[in-house]
Amino acid sequence: MNFEGLKIAIQSWAEDRKLTDPVPQAVKVGEEFGELCGAILKNNIPLIRDSIGDVLVTLIILSKQLGHDPVECLQEAFHEIKDRKGKTVGGSFVKEESTQVESDIKTRLLDLLESCRDPSTGSINKYLVVEKLMDQ
Ligand SMILES: [Mg+2]
Repeated sequence: MNFEGLKIAIQSWAEDRKLTDPVPQAVKVGEEFGELCGAILKNNIPLIRDSIGDVLVTLIILSKQLGHDPVECLQEAFHEIKDRKGKTVGGSFVKEESTQVESDIKTRLLDLLESCRDPSTGSINKYLVVEKLMDQ
């Protein structure tokens, strides 16, 4: 069965059980996600697989309760990230907007260092750097 078929079967399963309230369902999503995090920490592969499935099932049910198609939400999310530029830092993808701030800070720091260079020796006066940083 493909994702669309599974989605319909899961939503029908939830309807049969009168699961219509998104508030307890949102809590359930959180519970299942917590189990997934625990499984990752334990490196328990069967539990990781089980938890990924549970997270998806609970999200599919929540989407229906909130009146949104999870496949459309997935398409919109992917459309938003597919051309995003940035870099991976510490295992997490950081958007270019964030890296732009880092870049601006780096540029300001390099400008500050250059302003502390002794023209006669070419070396950076570290005492002047500290003094200028304290003034920032
Ligand atoms: Mg579970």
